Amino acid sequence: MDAALRHDQPHAASRRALALLLLGPPGAGKGTQSHAISRKFGIPEISTGEMLREAVRAKTELGNQVKSIMESGELVPDPLVCALVEQRLSQPDCAQGFILDGFPRNLEQARFLDQWLRSQCRFEPLALNIQVDPNLLIKRLTGRRMCPRCRTIYNIYFNSPQKDEICDKDGSPLAQRRDDSEAAIRTRLQEYEAQTKPLLDYYRDSGFLREVDGDPDPPAVTSAILGLLEPS
Ligand SMILES: [Zn+2]
Repeated sequence: MDAALRHDQPHAASRRALALLLLGPPGAGKGTQSHAISRKFGIPEISTGEMLREAVRAKTELGNQVKSIMESGELVPDPLVCALVEQRLSQPDCAQGFILDGFPRNLEQARFLDQWLRSQCRFEPLALNIQVDPNLLIKRLTGRRMCPRCRTIYNIYFNSPQKDEICDKDGSPLAQRRDDSEAAIRTRLQEYEAQTKPLLDYYRDSGFLREVDGDPDPPAVTSAILGLLEPS
């Protein structure tokens, strides 16, 4: 049964739900900000990167398809990502709004999302671009480590664990994502630049784009974002 078509509270549907699209290069802090905003508003955060890595771990049909693509640092083809996103956004927990991290990544995905949002008639899209100094980005990305057990994210330059490469919370050895290798990062940043310029123009033209400075500490960036989201 398609849960998105259920309307238990027809009157609630007149209230527009926030569809927050987080834009910004890898390392801009989209994941961290997504967490903070999700907690503040009680809406789910949807990371296409996480969904894809989970599919790879679970060895689903989609996971096997994207495994080799991701390991080479290339981006996963649009039809695969769009299918995954549509499936996720149709879940009941997205009805009151959601945060998308890592999607859309190009015009084709943006048009797909626009069409889907319009078909649902209840979402208020807002594209938030987190801008970061390129020199900061490389350090953030090559220093990133994640605890495979509790998913806590560290950075050996900015937010190191007390013991080298060991999670503070549960003592698990930290992992570096395979696509955080320097070669893969360069590929990702180049592809990001080329693909998102038209995307930013697209949202600027539609009037949905807001910019935020992603250089400061995460809590300061969160405050700036919340300031933008407050109804004025
Ligand atoms: Zn941990």
